[in-house]
Amino acid sequence: AHLDAIARLNPALNAYITVLPEETVLAQADAADARYAAGTAGLMDGLPIGIKDLFCTKDIRTTAASPILADFVPPYESTVTARLLKEGAVFLGKTNLDEFAMGSANTSSAFGATTSPWRRTDAPDVALVPGGSSGGSSAAVAAGLALAATGTDTGGSIRQPAAYCGIVGLKPTYGRCSRWGVIAYASSLDQAGPMTRSVTDAGLMLEAMAGFDERDSTSASRPVPAFHKAVGKSVKGLRVGIPTEYRAPGLPEDVLAMWEQGIAWLREAGCEVVDVSLPHTRYGLTSYYIIAPAECSSNLARYDGIRFGKRVDAPSLDAVYEASRAAGFGPEVRSRILMGTYVLSAGYYDAYYLKAQKVRTLIRRDFEQAFETVDVLLTPTAPSAAFAQGENQNDPVQMYLNDIFTVPASLAGIPGLSVPVGLNGAGLPLGLQVLGRHFDEETVLSVGGALE
Ligand code: GLN
Repeated sequence: AHLDAIARLNPALNAYITVLPEETVLAQADAADARYAAGTAGLMDGLPIGIKDLFCTKDIRTTAASPILADFVPPYESTVTARLLKEGAVFLGKTNLDEFAMGSANTSSAFGATTSPWRRTDAPDVALVPGGSSGGSSAAVAAGLALAATGTDTGGSIRQPAAYCGIVGLKPTYGRCSRWGVIAYASSLDQAGPMTRSVTDAGLMLEAMAGFDERDSTSASRPVPAFHKAVGKSVKGLRVGIPTEYRAPGLPEDVLAMWEQGIAWLREAGCEVVDVSLPHTRYGLTSYYIIAPAECSSNLARYDGIRFGKRVDAPSLDAVYEASRAAGFGPEVRSRILMGTYVLSAGYYDAYYLKAQKVRTLIRRDFEQAFETVDVLLTPTAPSAAFAQGENQNDPVQMYLNDIFTVPASLAGIPGLSVPVGLNGAGLPLGLQVLGRHFDEETVLSVGGALE
């Protein structure tokens, strides 16, 4: 059924970069059936899912939506996808994304933009973005081209596309899932997580994905609880903080109204709702857009035309580097590399990069202080519903502003869940974000379940 849906809808949505051959998918499904019959079914046995094309998959092309990796076939499997396979998941294909996961609209893919399956009721002819960078995953799950999908989140790339497409997206605590075999964007921020139709599914899939991995020195040596059991648990007596700084001036009425609705639901469920302050919130975006490009410029130095991916032949070694990188990187990636090398360069390192790292510590402390008095925080996931394809495209700052509510949690490394809570006046989904303490995904999922 999912393959049929892909055949029917993927030409219009472009949610998948690579769809696996029918025989390959059905063979995986048959193997799952056999395990089920033998009583050895895994946690995800037979569940058909999409994999963001940033996870290396053995013998399956993995592009990061970049020309430089357009023909890259990894000889190894990422830890997260290996775990999903071990738990019996059936892979349908590799989903579209912004090039190297840099973006908020899935418009910078070398394989073409992904289109959201949603339309405004007052402008049904206007194509909307699915959010980004995991926009292929969010569109695929929302349109029924996968039961669930993997995403990665550096500054919001799981949560924001989930909100735009009306699905659930969970960015786990930094270190919860191994980054081994996930093509790096900004290593101190990158984290893999599930994108699903329900909060229970998100818990189940995280359980399959998470866990210590000796091949990733930043992966956490923590037991993996039965996350899905946290969903449906009573939230009575939990303290929910509303960060006053997130009531940003100019926040649209529909987003505010949905936030109030979420607060009311949690009160009804027995939560105590209190205002809290995260005073350094307004420096989140600026420090993120210094740190993430700095790390990206360093991570992407490995694409030199020699060791990986596309090579353009030229008369000297330097010329090979230059020609390969010029042909291999799209405009957004190039601008991030330039920003990153600039803020890391000798004369500017202290003024930008070091300063941003200090601000990052202050942001993390804001959260630590808040979590001394509350169990979770509730905010909107994004400052608006999905926008039209092409909008914000020539104004990078406007595009970066989309991440205003998601980047602080990324900088702090705490878990964040986006839950679809309703539709706005134009019939588009809006999401609320639940943030929790480091490694307390269980409470986050319980509160998410109460909002669903
Ligand atoms: N939109 C943010 C960026 O472009 C976040 C992307 C992400 O989380 N991968 O950096």
